[in-house]
Amino acid sequence: MGKLDRKVAYITGGAEGIGFATAQQFVSEGAYVFITDINQEKLDLAVERIGKQSITAIKADVSKLDEHRHVHNVIKKEKGKLDIIFANAGIAGTMPLGSITEQYFDEMFNVNVKGVLFTVQEVLPLLNDGASIILNASIATIKGPPASSIYSATKAALRSFARSWAVDLKSRQIRVNTISPGPIDTAMLWNMYDTEEKSKAFAERITTATVLGRVGQADEVARTVLFLASNDSSYITGIELFVDGGIAQI
Ligand code: NAD
Repeated sequence: MGKLDRKVAYITGGAEGIGFATAQQFVSEGAYVFITDINQEKLDLAVERIGKQSITAIKADVSKLDEHRHVHNVIKKEKGKLDIIFANAGIAGTMPLGSITEQYFDEMFNVNVKGVLFTVQEVLPLLNDGASIILNASIATIKGPPASSIYSATKAALRSFARSWAVDLKSRQIRVNTISPGPIDTAMLWNMYDTEEKSKAFAERITTATVLGRVGQADEVARTVLFLASNDSSYITGIELFVDGGIAQI
């Protein structure tokens, strides 16, 4: 018996990194998974790696409301229900105070905040009672990496979403939690700054700041998401769970 037998899950930004590792983890525990992403090539590769019998990939941009409606329709037609949402898609970036542009602000909030809101809201009618919703925030909710105020603010918004939605959905026993990863070995970490050199220096600094003294792996985050998605966390709702090698504590 898998921990997610007969469950249907939806993961945004599922073509690579933490989203893909979570899709693999969910499928290995018996779930059927819908993933969305903006990168068609990587979506195709993800389906190939996981196997068509367990996954449907849909090209969709979380910042576009009409694309969420399309996703809703596909899930409704194929499975008619949902048990787990992992609102994972997000973008990172840096821009120091003094030179923050309106375009940068809008893009960050459109993907990281509006994207998460409509990921959840547009499929709510498909969600079973007792479902689990997990939002992917960041250690940046409580730390202040240089020039990251906008990214940090978008991620802090997700903590508020989780706390409020946990209350809004309590009558249906739907649990809503946030995970906040530290430095994780994905493309995002290594492309954080505008040059490879600055990104590497940042990754080294943040890694040194962890208690465990190393970068985390996507599957270590995926296993935490699995815990929050499964019945193992049945009495946990509204929390922010750090998956950060101890960085939040020092
Ligand atoms: P990643 O870049 O490996 O994967 C992100 C995926 O999201 C990509 O496949 C990308 O194509 C997709 N995506 C980007 N914009 C999208 C959009 N508008 N609509 C749909 N899909 C979109 O990065 P990752 O590290 O796996 O990041 C996943 C989440 O984890 C993000 O929300 C990120 O903020 C969070 N996070 C990552 C780290 C880290 O160190 N890697 C740390 C803290 C939080």
